[in-house]
Amino acid sequence: MGIYQIAIDGPSGSGKSTLAKGIAKELGIMYLDTGAMYRTCAVASIRKGVDPKDAEAVKKMMDEVKIEVKFVDGVQHMILDGEDVTGDLRTPQTSIAASDISALPFVRTAMVSLQREIAKNQTFVLDGRDIASVVLPDAKYKFFVVCAPEVRAERRLAELQAAGDNSQTFEEVLRDINYRDEQDSKRAASPLIQVPEAVVIDTGKYDIEGTRAFLLSHLDEEDK
Ligand code: C5P
Repeated sequence: MGIYQIAIDGPSGSGKSTLAKGIAKELGIMYLDTGAMYRTCAVASIRKGVDPKDAEAVKKMMDEVKIEVKFVDGVQHMILDGEDVTGDLRTPQTSIAASDISALPFVRTAMVSLQREIAKNQTFVLDGRDIASVVLPDAKYKFFVVCAPEVRAERRLAELQAAGDNSQTFEEVLRDINYRDEQDSKRAASPLIQVPEAVVIDTGKYDIEGTRAFLLSHLDEEDK
C-alpha cells in the first residue's frame, strides 16, 4: 500500500472534521485539521491585541510568533510559542478572527507550506477550504462537503451548548456562519473552491456513519 492523501474541503460547520476524524480512525491514517492552524494564528492575534484584518500588524506578528503542529499519539496539538493552545481554538471569537486572518496571503503561504511539509511523507486525510485546489492539487482523493447553512447552525449551536457555552442564539450562530461563508468564498487568496474532480458529499443527507460509508465507497480497495 502506497502513500496517499485524502482532501476534504467545504464551508464552516459542514461536518468536514467529524468526517475526516472518522475516516482517519477507520483507516488508521493521520488527520490534519488545517483550520486549527489558522485558528492558532487567530489566537496569537487576540492575545497580542493585533487586529486580524490589519495586514501590516499581522505580518509583524507572524514574524515574531512560532506556530508548530505536534502529533501526540496520533492526535494533533497546536503549539503557539511553546504553549499548547489546542483547547483555546474553538470559541466564537476565534472563529471570526480565523476567517479574517486566513484571508491574508502571507498567512496562507506560511500555513500551506507547513501543511505540505507535514503531509508529504505519510498517508493523511486533511480538511480545509483549499486542500484540493491549492495545498495538494495532486491528492489521490478529493471530496467537497456541502450542507445547508441552517442545518450547520443548528449543529454548531448544539456543539457549543454541549461544551457549556450558552452565549449565542441560533440567529447569532447562523449570522457568524454566513459571515464566514461569504468571506471564505469571496476572498482573493485561495477562496473556498470546489474543484471539478471532487466528489460532492451532502452531510445533510446522511448521518455520521452514512457519510463515512459514502466516502469510503469511493476509495480503491488497496487503500481501505
Ligand atoms: O475549519 P475551521 O472552521 O476550523 O477553520 C477556521 C477558519 O480558517 C475558516 O473560517 C477559514 O476562513 C480558515 N481556513 C482556511 N483554509 C483552510 C482551513 C481553514 O482559510 N484550509
